[in-house]
Order: sequence, then structure tokens, then C-alpha cells
Amino acid sequence: MNCKNTETDSLSYIERKLTDNKIVELYEHLQECESCRDGFIMNYAIYTAISQLEHGEDFSDNYRLEAEQHLRSDYQRIVRKRHLTRFYRFVVLVLLVGTGIFLGITTSNSYLPNHLPEGQESSFRLEYYGIPEEFDPVEHAIKEYNSEMIQQIREHHTGE
Ligand SMILES: [Zn+2]
Repeated sequence: MNCKNTETDSLSYIERKLTDNKIVELYEHLQECESCRDGFIMNYAIYTAISQLEHGEDFSDNYRLEAEQHLRSDYQRIVRKRHLTRFYRFVVLVLLVGTGIFLGITTSNSYLPNHLPEGQESSFRLEYYGIPEEFDPVEHAIKEYNSEMIQQIREHHTGE
């Protein structure tokens, strides 16, 4: 965030119209920019004083402190919320990966080699548990090898 947008964002913040992302940006900018911080506190003081006057409330003792505390607590709330969201995402990811592994272990891959002359069926059946078929490099390698074998056998037969 640059100093140019800070005043507009400060006013939006004071009117409680600033988005969470912008509040974080505003807070971080005010941490390192004294003139914007002073501007923010001034606007906060004016806005709050007018509002207090309108509602017949007492004026605050220290607008500077109040403004800074206000913004800091909003900032901390947003950061906490983000950490929590990240944590939940992590939990969901772990659950998804866990489910994937579970399915991989319990899903049976079976494969019936078929390189016998037509009409005859193999009694050999390869069956194992592992990664679901379409993601399994071993499965692919076996199929590739097998089709090569079939090809060779066919060529051998026609060659005779
Ligand atoms: Zn600035």
C-alpha cells in the first residue's frame, strides 16, 4: 500500500467499510509510516468525536491510543482467523491424503494376462493391492510388457 490510498482506506476503516485484506495492509503501512499514522489518528479522532457528540456520549480520553488499539485488535483478529483457516485447510488436506492412501491400500487391482492363443484363457491372475490402477506405474509397465509379448507371439506365429 502506498501513502496515496492510505487516507481513503483510513476513512473506510473508520466507517467500518474496509475489507479484512485492506485492514491488514493499512495496519502494516501505518506501522512504518508516521505521517499516514498521524493522518489516520486525526481522522479517527474527528469521526469518533462527531459520532460521540451526535449520540450524546462522553468524549474519549485518548483518541490516539484508542485508534491504535482499535486497528491493532482488528489486525490481530484477522491474522488469527487466517491461521485458523490455514489450520483447517491442513486438516482437510490430511484427511484427503489419508483417504487416498486408505483407498489405495484397500482397492484391489487385478489383471488377467492374455497372451494365449485365442479361445484359451489363462488361469493365472495377478492381483495386488496398491495405488488405483490409473495412477500406478507398475500397472502400466505390466500392461506394456504384456502387449509387447502378445505382439511378439503373434509375429512368431505368423512367421511360421
Ligand atoms: Zn504512508
